[in-house]
Amino acid sequence: MADEILTRTGEKFDSDDEVQILDAIAKWLDRDVKDKVLALEHADEYPHEMVEQMKSLGLFGATISQAYGGLGLPSSSYAKIVTMVSEVWMSLTGIFNSHLIMAAAVERFGTEAQKQHFLPRFASGELRGGLALTEPNCGTDLQAVRTKAVRDGDDYVINGSKTWISNGIEGGCVALLVKTDTEIQPRHRGMSLFLAEKGPGFNVGRKLEKLGYKGIDSAELFFEDYRISADNLIGGEEGHGFHHTVGGLELGRINVAARGVGVANAALKAATAYAQIRETMGKPIGQHQAIQTKLGDMATRCQAARLLVEDAARAYDRGERCDMEAGMAKLFASEAAMENAAECMRIHGAYGYSKEQHVERYYRDAPLMCIGEGTNEMQRIIIARQIMERNPV
Ligand SMILES: Cc1cc2nc3c(=O)[nH]c(=O)nc-3n(C[C@H](O)[C@H](O)[C@H](O)COP(=O)(O)OP(=O)(O)OC[C@H]3O[C@@H](n4cnc5c(N)ncnc54)[C@H](O)[C@@H]3O)c2cc1C
Repeated sequence: MADEILTRTGEKFDSDDEVQILDAIAKWLDRDVKDKVLALEHADEYPHEMVEQMKSLGLFGATISQAYGGLGLPSSSYAKIVTMVSEVWMSLTGIFNSHLIMAAAVERFGTEAQKQHFLPRFASGELRGGLALTEPNCGTDLQAVRTKAVRDGDDYVINGSKTWISNGIEGGCVALLVKTDTEIQPRHRGMSLFLAEKGPGFNVGRKLEKLGYKGIDSAELFFEDYRISADNLIGGEEGHGFHHTVGGLELGRINVAARGVGVANAALKAATAYAQIRETMGKPIGQHQAIQTKLGDMATRCQAARLLVEDAARAYDRGERCDMEAGMAKLFASEAAMENAAECMRIHGAYGYSKEQHVERYYRDAPLMCIGEGTNEMQRIIIARQIMERNPV
């Protein structure tokens, strides 16, 4: 009999449903994605065809409630999808990850009218986007954002700029973090989050060149007297934008951690296979202890990272505070991806350095997980603060 899986939104979901969805994604990755990754990656080309397939699979509504047209998946199941996709091509997850964090902000904190207006279009993939938080002068210290929204009748007028915004070119909408009050203390009380659709005054700058995470667009955005209805202020009240953003980062960190598991797994699988094929000194390199110790560490990191992700995702699905659990998962899984990618490259020797294989991509993609959704330096600080708060003397 199928086991019931808890969802944060109270959706009915069980292990049979999960198996079916994971199976459909696995078939898609095998049939339509796997063989096209190398070409798209090296051309840094947006995978339009795959985006259409992702729409059909329901990926743009994966964690949106069924009541608004989504699949209503618990984050524990969603994390498994992110891991599977990242094993094949991590960039693809960027197209729906921050999109779903934007959707989660609407579902958790938006008014009913905002949910009705935006969520069905997000779920179908008709309107896609992400999070516009980072600015040229600040990433970690989000309370220092300078983009400003000034009330004007029933509208706000927004001026400022954002950078590094995933889906900034191909998407149609962002959750935009601004200051509505630049004087108030503490600074976070002057912050608000808007659902900003592209239109006059919302200008897209250049596509940023990156080490890895190719295919997906990372862009600068400029807001010049961009007029937006007050109806697009998430929750309808100023001053809660920082809280709404930080609330979404828990899920964001679980997603990044799940990506880390995917890249760490991919590196382990490639290394395990190669160690049994490549021979030196008359035997497969996997028979040398120097290679065995690497594989042993790599496999252990994969398993530990996966368990941390599952633990954080289950806490999230139970509706518990899980910044520490999500932080631990993100920290460990991203570092696991870094270490496994480097070891996989060493095990492959020169072939690991070749652009004709996938191994060098893991090495280029892994560092992003240490930066995005809060750097690993910040995760350590969050974990330390929480461990003391939960264990007072
Ligand atoms: C490929 C890519 C995609 C991205 N996508 C998005 C996106 O879609 N939306 C978005 O809004 N942003 C996005 N970002 C930006 C990302 O979230 C930021 O880069 C990240 O938050 C770090 O900010 P920063 O780069 O400004 O570094 P900084 O904040 O300047 O930090 C620099 C260094 O100082 C450390 N540091 C900072 N403060 C402290 C402290 N208090 N204590 C200890 N150490 C500290 C950091 O850990 C880091 O090592 C993306 C970035 C990349 C590279």
